[in-house]
Amino acid sequence: MAQEKDVRFIRLQFTDIFGVLKNVAIPPHQLEKALDGELMFDGSSIEGFVRIEESDMYLMPDPNTFVIFPWRPQEGSVARLICDVYHEDGTPFAGDPRQVLKRVLAEAGSMGYTMNVGPECEFFLFHTDEKGQPTLETHDKAGYFDLTPVDLGENARGDMAIALENMGFEIEESHHEVAPGQHEIDFKYTDALTAADSIVTFKFVVRTIAQRHGLHATFMPKPIFGINGSGMHTNQSLFKEGKNAFYDPKGPLELSETAYFYLGGLIQHARHMTAITNPTVNSYKRLVPGYEAPVYIAWSAKNRSPLIRIPAKRGVSTRIEMRNPDPSCNPYLAIAVMLKAGLDGIRNKTQAPPSIDGNISEMNETERIAQGIPSLPGSLREAVTDLEKDEIIKEALGSHIVEKYLEAKKLEWDQYRTRITQWEIEEYLTKF
Ligand code: ADP
Ligand code: MG
Ligand code: MG
Ligand code: MG
Ligand code: MG
Repeated sequence: MAQEKDVRFIRLQFTDIFGVLKNVAIPPHQLEKALDGELMFDGSSIEGFVRIEESDMYLMPDPNTFVIFPWRPQEGSVARLICDVYHEDGTPFAGDPRQVLKRVLAEAGSMGYTMNVGPECEFFLFHTDEKGQPTLETHDKAGYFDLTPVDLGENARGDMAIALENMGFEIEESHHEVAPGQHEIDFKYTDALTAADSIVTFKFVVRTIAQRHGLHATFMPKPIFGINGSGMHTNQSLFKEGKNAFYDPKGPLELSETAYFYLGGLIQHARHMTAITNPTVNSYKRLVPGYEAPVYIAWSAKNRSPLIRIPAKRGVSTRIEMRNPDPSCNPYLAIAVMLKAGLDGIRNKTQAPPSIDGNISEMNETERIAQGIPSLPGSLREAVTDLEKDEIIKEALGSHIVEKYLEAKKLEWDQYRTRITQWEIEEYLTKF
C-alpha cells in the first residue's frame, strides 16, 4: 500500500503515559525493518518512560492501523502506523499505555468478554490572533444543534468529519454543543483497542483541520468559567459470543445481571479512577454543579444528570454511559481502568446501589447523605489520594505507570496550588 499510494513518509506513533501523541517519521525503505520491530528509539526523553540507563526501546507497528492522512497532497503522501513499545529482549514495556489496555482486554477475554466503546468527544474551536496564537474568542453565538451557515467553526467541523471518514471512521453525527464555539463529533463504537487508537487519532485530526481553518481546537476540559466544559462520555458494553452481554429482555430494565455487576464495579471504583479519567487540575473545574457535568456518584436509566446513564436503546446497543471522563485523559488508561472496575464488579458480584431518578443537583447535602450518594473527588489532589488507595485500579495500570503517574500528578498539583490566581488578586488585593 505504501508503494501503491506513493507514500513518502510513515509516522510511527505511540503515546506517553499522559496520552500525548509521539511519533518518529521513517521513509518507506525503512518500513520492512520497522514492521519487524527492529526500529529503536531513545525512551529516556519520553515523559513517564524510562531512566537513562535503560533507554533503548523498540517500536512494534500494528499493521491494522495503517492509514494515509487524507489532507496531504496525493503525490508524496504521508501515512501512519500505531505502535506498541517493547524492550530489546522482546518483552512488552510496562510504561506503554496501549499495552496496559491490551492486558486488561486479555483479562476480559479470559472471562469470555470483548469490550465495545463509543466515545463522545467534545471540544472548543477558538480564533487565533495575528501571530497565530490561540485566543479564547469565538465569534459564534450558536447553541446545541444550531445550524449557522456563516460560522467558520461549522465549516471546519464539516471538513473534520470528512477527513475522519476518509481515514475509516464511521461518523454517526456531528453537532454544535451547548456552549458557544463548542462542538461534538461522534463516531460509531468499535472494539475498545480500536476506540482508544481512534480517540488519539481523532484529537490529532481535529487539531490539524482546525489549524488549516485558522482556528485552534482544544480538548482542555474547562477553558471558560461560567459555560459548559468538554467531556468525553464513554459508552461501553461487553459482548459474549457475539451477543451483547448487558442485554437481557427478562431482566429489570431489560438489563442482565452482568450489566448490574459491571455497574456495581464502576460505582465502587469511581472515585479511585477519577485521577485517570479526569487527569488535570482543570478537569475538576468541569466537574461542578450546573453545567451538565456529573458530580455525584449515582446511576439512572431515566435522567441525564448522574455519573452513569443507561441510554434507552436495547438489544445490540444496550450500553452503560460513563459521563465523567474528559478528553484530556489518556484513552488507553481511562478505558483500561473502567473495564477493570467493571470486571471486578462481575467477579465479586458487586451490587449496584438503587438508581437515583430524581434530580440530584436539587437535593441538599443532608438528603444526599441520607440516600448514600457520594461525590466525585473535588480536585486533582483528592483524586490522586483516592487512586493510591485502590489496589484493583493500581493493578490495572501496573506499578511502573502508577509510580510515574502519581509522581507527575503530585508535581502538577503543587505547581498549581502555589500559583496566585487572578481570582485571588481580584478578591483580596484591595480587601486586605
Ligand atoms: P448521547 O445520547 O449521550 O448524546 P451519542 O448518540 O452522542 O449519545 O453517542 C452514543 C455513542 O454510543 C456512539 O458512539 C455509539 O456508537 C455508541 N454505542 C452504541 N451502541 C454501543 C454499544 N453496544 N457499546 C458501546 N457503545 C455503543
Ligand atoms: Mg452525544
Ligand atoms: Mg446523540
Ligand atoms: Mg455532548
Ligand atoms: Mg452522552
